[in-house]
This record gives sequence, structure tokens and C-alpha cells, in this order.
Amino acid sequence: MHMDRTIKSCGCDSELASCGLISLDEAVACAVSQVTPLRQTEHVLLADAAGRTIASDILAPSAMPFFDNSAMDGFAVRRADLEGRCCLPIAGTVAAGDVPRDLPEGTALRIFTGAPLPHGADTVAMVEACIDKGHKVHFETKPPRGSNIRRAGSDQAQGATLVPAQTRLAAHHIGLLAANGIIGAEVLRRPRVAVFSTGDEVQAGACRAGQIPDANRPMLCALLQQWGAEVSDLGILPDDAEATTAALAGLGDAFDLILTSGAVSMGGKDHVQAAFVAAGGTVQGWRVALKPGKPVMFGRLGRAAFTGLPGNPFAVHVGFHLFVAAQIDRLHGRVPQPFAAEPASAGFDWSRKPGRAEVFPVRLTGHDPKGTARLERLGAGVSATLFPLAGADGLAIVPADTDRIARGDGLRWHPFAATGGVR
Ligand code: AMP
Ligand code: MG
Repeated sequence: MHMDRTIKSCGCDSELASCGLISLDEAVACAVSQVTPLRQTEHVLLADAAGRTIASDILAPSAMPFFDNSAMDGFAVRRADLEGRCCLPIAGTVAAGDVPRDLPEGTALRIFTGAPLPHGADTVAMVEACIDKGHKVHFETKPPRGSNIRRAGSDQAQGATLVPAQTRLAAHHIGLLAANGIIGAEVLRRPRVAVFSTGDEVQAGACRAGQIPDANRPMLCALLQQWGAEVSDLGILPDDAEATTAALAGLGDAFDLILTSGAVSMGGKDHVQAAFVAAGGTVQGWRVALKPGKPVMFGRLGRAAFTGLPGNPFAVHVGFHLFVAAQIDRLHGRVPQPFAAEPASAGFDWSRKPGRAEVFPVRLTGHDPKGTARLERLGAGVSATLFPLAGADGLAIVPADTDRIARGDGLRWHPFAATGGVR
């Protein structure tokens, strides 16, 4: 098939276009424009809500704390009763969970942290500053009026925003909602993503000579789960255009996004593009000025977006972070986060051929005096191996026009730990 007839360009930089490549920025924009934010929601209990995306703002149903209570173990008193006295009779004990009670005038009540402040009390003396003599208490120091009381409503007002719309729920959000007596939340349904590998040599099980294990599918499924998608693992497609067309046809109504890896370049067995078009797909962009991962393809198949990633596993890893992560963000209604937004400085010298943006694994070796992360470059720019990731703390990127990096130069990087499943 001839490219000019199949590709609706996303708008190409002229120099790159002459090589048939779209720039990285254009490619990200093209990827993102294939998806639209999801609207459907579902209700989940907090126990199942980690990693889910909140559909609309969650407001505090009431002010917090719910009632005046003690911030300390100690003695609840009327501060005026301590004028001219340093001892008071103990009228009883009030613990967390007790119903509020009255403080008889001229007495103290033994009180524990979280217990409701007795009616009439205006001060709590901490236990460390008191001598409890059983029937009476001696105050070694006299606390200022109002001490050690958590006032109703002092933490948050009724109606305060607890979690804004589009937040991906992490443990601290869930704790806050639970503290407010909320037991469930309305969340966006998960983006439905289908994942295929391709290649006659790619195997899910034991390999004979000439075959290799499928690295891309397990990796993509894991990344998609980390990013909060509902993943359908659809197996390995043979290097056969008809079989590929049959597998893709009709998927557009079942998924928000379909991912393939491999067979999307220009070699003899690279049939994904032709099969995709035969299945009713439209190609919206193909071939990006990126290393690794030039032969990425973006398109639409029915209601689904389609992203055809390259075959080499490191190129798949990079393609996920640059394009698929942004697509999932937008499906969740979030503005896609720019890749590698963290500043860093190079701990290495490197001369390279300009023309394509390049992503490479990096190890964090320390920090500059200003606190900027110092990075070591790993690997030799080989897209076929994931091995350099074994010692990597993240990925760094250099723009297409960079021909040289000197020690101390500024870089941008994406630390793996920063997203750790709660992006
Ligand atoms: P392709 O673009 O299909 O020619 O694939 C490029 C390279 O990536 C080839 O060496 C493939 O064997 C390899 N490859 C493709 N898919 C996978 C996969 N799922 N797991 C590991 N390697 C793969
Ligand atoms: Mg292949």
C-alpha cells in the first residue's frame, strides 16, 4: 500500500516529513487525539478503590472533627477552677467512645485522647504535667485555657473538597475518605485495552531453536495495569495478514484502545498496517523521529484507538511511556503528563547522531550541590535488549537536535519510582 493514500498526517515538520517521519511532539499529539475522555462511571467500595479515577469532586459531608475532643491523655478542667489552686478532686474518667458528659464544677475528669470534651470543660492538662493521686489530681503547671483540645470543625469545613475530580485514588485519599465516614466512591470505568504480540518466532511457552519468548505482552499488560487500565491479553498473532485482519475486525466496539507490538515496520513480514486497514482501520500517523521506536503507528478502528508499537522490547517500553501512557491519561480525563518532566544533569559525555529524539535507560548516581539528580547512561542504544533496565532507575530523553552531551549538561528524566502505579 502506498503511504500517501493511507496516512492522514498529523502535520509534519517539513525536514522530517521529507524522511517520512513525524516529530515526537506531533506523534504524542497524534496519539492523544485518537482517544476521548471516558464518561461512564461505576460505584466501588473503598476497599476496591485504590488506583481508580474519581468521576467528580468528593466533598466533605460534615465538618471534622465531628465533636470537641481531647488531643492528649490528661485531665479536663474548667481553667478558672485552677485560679489560686493546684489540686482538684477527680470526678471520674472519660475515654474515647464514651458519650459526652458534664464536668462537675470545681472538679477534674481524667480524659483520654479522642474522648469527647465534657460539657463545661475548656482545658485539658496533659498527663505528664499532673500527679494522679487517685481521688485528686495535682497540677505541676497550669496549662493556658483552651490547651490540648481539638475543636469540632477545626480540621476541615463541611463541603470542603476532599478529592477533586480526575484524581487517581492513592492510599492517602482512601484514608481521608474513610475518616469522613465515606464507604465508597463513584469512579470512571477503567479504559479497556486489548494487547497483541505478533511474530511467528514469538512464543508464550517453551522455545525451539529460532524462537524467542514473548517479552512485550507481559510487559505491556503490567504497564497497563499500573496505569489503571482493564487489560485483555489477546495473545500472539502469526505473521499472516489475513489472520491479523480477522483478529482485529470487530474489536473497535469492544475496546477503547488496541495495542500491538511488532510487524509495523517496512520489512517483508510487517503486515500490521495492511491488515489493520483491511479490518476497517484508518491510519492517522506512522513513523516517528524517535530512537528507539521509529515505526510506531497510530490509527482508529471503529470506536477504538489503535497504537501499533515496534517489535523490539526496549522500543515497546519507550513507546508505552511516550504514547500509550498519554492516551490512558486522556481516557481518564486527565491532561497527559509530559514524559520526563524531572530535571537532571548528565554524569557522562556522549556524542550522538542528531535527527531523532532519543530515550535511554539511566541510573541515579547522586545529586549535584543544588540537589539535581545526576544520571549515568546505561546500555549502548540497542533497542532489542531490556537488560540495561536491570540496573536502571528511570529513562532520560534528549531532543532530536542534540549532537553532544557533556558532563554536567541539563537533561530531563522519568524516574520509575515517581509513577510507581499511581499515575
Ligand atoms: P518486528 O518489527 O516484528 O520485525 O520485530 C522487531 C524485533 O523485535 C524482532 O527481532 C522480533 O523478534 C522482536 N520482537 C517482536 N515481538 C516481540 C515480543 N513480543 N517479544 C520479544 N521480542 C519481540
Ligand atoms: Mg515480527
